[in-house]
Amino acid sequence: MSEKPVLLVHPLGYSKEAARADIARKANLMPPLGLAMIAAWLENHGITADIVDCFADPDSDRAIVDYVREKRPAFVGFSCTTSSFIDGHRLALMVRDIDPAVKTVFGGAHVSALREKVIEKYPGVDFVVVGEGEECTRELIESGGDGVEGIKGLVYRSAGMAVFTGFRKELLDLDSLPFPAYEKLVGFPEKYKLPIFNYPHTPSTSCISSRGCPYACSYCDRSVFRRSFRYNSADYLYRHLQYLKEKFAIRHVNFYDDQFTFNRERVEEFCRLIMDNSLGMTFNCAVRAEHIDFDLLKLMKKAGCWMISLGIETGDPDLLAQHRQNPDLEMLAGKIRLIHKAGIRVKGLLMMGLPGESESSIKKSMEYVFSLPVDDFNLSKFTPFPGSPLYQNVNDLGEFTEDWERMDCMDFLFIPNGMTRERLDELFINFYKSHYTRIKVLLGYVAMLWKSPDSWRRFIVDFLSFWRFAHANRRMMKKK
Ligand code: SF4
Repeated sequence: MSEKPVLLVHPLGYSKEAARADIARKANLMPPLGLAMIAAWLENHGITADIVDCFADPDSDRAIVDYVREKRPAFVGFSCTTSSFIDGHRLALMVRDIDPAVKTVFGGAHVSALREKVIEKYPGVDFVVVGEGEECTRELIESGGDGVEGIKGLVYRSAGMAVFTGFRKELLDLDSLPFPAYEKLVGFPEKYKLPIFNYPHTPSTSCISSRGCPYACSYCDRSVFRRSFRYNSADYLYRHLQYLKEKFAIRHVNFYDDQFTFNRERVEEFCRLIMDNSLGMTFNCAVRAEHIDFDLLKLMKKAGCWMISLGIETGDPDLLAQHRQNPDLEMLAGKIRLIHKAGIRVKGLLMMGLPGESESSIKKSMEYVFSLPVDDFNLSKFTPFPGSPLYQNVNDLGEFTEDWERMDCMDFLFIPNGMTRERLDELFINFYKSHYTRIKVLLGYVAMLWKSPDSWRRFIVDFLSFWRFAHANRRMMKKK
């Protein structure tokens, strides 16, 4: 095996000039946990791995160039979303120009969904890792990129053709993984920020304790973990938080799992561990309404749960039934009230512009959300990602502009039949304005002065950017 190191890159997806004016970066900057997990796994197997996170440092072309010139890595890996893939490919070509011997490998949901098509169309990509990255990447690096036919989960080029070696069947026991290599992220944890009003104190971070989701919502891309669901034990989770506390002084953790409470016993055990040996930390998590009850919520509150996010998507029962299993809005409303009753903040996750959306369904969503004790919500613009079930026939359901670089859920690139982009934009702004002008909501934000003082500090510092976004409804004020 080569002694050369490996560089792992998290591409930005747009220019560094635009990054300075990007409201999404100011509002929420999450560490690239997938890359930090792969780096830790590689290091555990004797392979030196470093990370460049272009989100944390948008001016990072220079850092990548310097690294490649000085360290001559054997591989440069890129973890890309749909919107950052083209930028990742640009960086791969740039790396190749400096050192043609470097091999490039891409991972993440976008390339896992498109597999062979990526190798066929993008010459800067030598390998695609499909699905879970740790073992496939390790085997690839140890092979040096030659004789890779036996490595499951890989797409490579052979005689000008793309070859997929097939899905990996053996998946890792998540308790066998080392903790992510947070120390490889320059500026961690101070540089990374949770969304404002989503945490009580700093330093904070996101953290992952499970992989996958057994549900099959029409709009959700699950190309990486498919329908599997695996999780860390309560004991591992407790030790992970203890590590974050001791090494980085973290005081609040956002569990970035799709289904934190899917295994009730695990969460109960984790809460008891925290209650018996307090770490002085709080946490947020995301749940599906079917997997919470009042007893569990009370226990979670005692253990430090500060906020729970859950998917609502739409308040129109007919539209919900087209896109999601168990489309029971009454049950969902009951669970939201229980979270509130347990003393935990509620964040609703909604989507606008799904196939079948209409003025009437948007009105129903507003009425539904505003009738509930929802403290915060996120309204995203529906985007058909290549790995989602809807992507297959989305052109029959409306007009889709498949511009990957703009597919970040902040543009209406899909217009459902019967709607226009202009009208969707108007209704989108109206949804947010109606929320932020309700007295109850405003009082809730006043209370954040003492519940999350750092959020207010950030809000004041970036007030002009937020104000411009509220009026222009544009993520960036400069061109990409
Ligand atoms: S939207 Fe949530 S519940 Fe639905 S498939 Fe995706 S992760 Fe699972």
